[in-house]
Amino acid sequence: MDASSRAKPRILIVDDVPVNCRLLLESLKGDYKIDIATSGEQALLMVTKNPPDLILLDIMMPRMDGYEVCERLKQDSTSQDIPIIFLTAKNSKEDEARGFEWGVVDYISKPFHIPVVKARIRTHLQLKRRCDLLNRLASVDALTGIPNRRHFTDAFEVEWRRAIRGGSSISVMLIDVDYFKQYNDTYGHSAGDECLKRIARSLQASLNRPGDSAARIGGEEFAVLLPETDALGAAMLAERIRSGVEELGIPHEGSAQFDVVTVSAGVATVTPSDHMERNTLLNAADEMLYQAKEKGRNQVIGREL
Ligand code: GH3
Ligand code: MG
Ligand code: MG
Repeated sequence: MDASSRAKPRILIVDDVPVNCRLLLESLKGDYKIDIATSGEQALLMVTKNPPDLILLDIMMPRMDGYEVCERLKQDSTSQDIPIIFLTAKNSKEDEARGFEWGVVDYISKPFHIPVVKARIRTHLQLKRRCDLLNRLASVDALTGIPNRRHFTDAFEVEWRRAIRGGSSISVMLIDVDYFKQYNDTYGHSAGDECLKRIARSLQASLNRPGDSAARIGGEEFAVLLPETDALGAAMLAERIRSGVEELGIPHEGSAQFDVVTVSAGVATVTPSDHMERNTLLNAADEMLYQAKEKGRNQVIGREL
């Protein structure tokens, strides 16, 4: 995407003095979508409703000052990564140093010089974009393009806590390709890579609820996270995933048992409570996977804790 086709970044200006807002608005509206809040309370509401890419935040405001707005934004996981620039008449070095202690990315004293404000906004938006990109890359598996182990671990932690809060069940499915070493030995490593890509696509195609997610967590191992899913639902989905891979019909002449590539899967389900370890669920799914291998592969075995 080139710069012209990219949507304009959204900037929230927070200042209780309308004339300050107007000046900034006039200078920035060509390059950015601008929202304006004239109080701290209004700013917090606007961030919740429509999170901006960057915030220009005045410090001295009646009732809720900029420090408090900043503190609240930093406490909330949905807003804590939005870059904040203090834009303020408090212009001593001590004020500036204190400002940075609140976790803002920059500090600009009034009266400000518009070209400098613009340059700093550009810099911080670019840094944020790069940081977001790195975070995205760090959670994607390079071979298959689906989420990786790191992503799975993070998502599992989030969903586990959500399940505890909501008193809902959660299921995890661990999948391992059958006789994959022989597949590589028969067709070569790059054919093996292609096979893993097709399996990854098939896993994703089998999922249709927005919370469900598949990840590649190891060489020929995958995991599927199923929030708010009971044992019956997980078993049905696991079977759909298993048959989906078999139906790809990828020839596997090296397999000791089957003509095509197949997978085995272990599924575990629990309604977690506070004192329970997350790993208990993963270990159970791993045990079920081991049993599925033992009992003849190309099958799913599940267990409810
Ligand atoms: P089982 O049915 O018991 O699971 O047997 P298996 O051969 O699938 O299991 P094993 O763990 O012995 O071998 C896994 C193989 O997966 C070994 C390795 O060469 C292959 N593998 C792991 N990662 C990759 C990868 O990224 N690309 C390719 N092509 N092969 C991989
Ligand atoms: Mg394996
Ligand atoms: Mg295997």
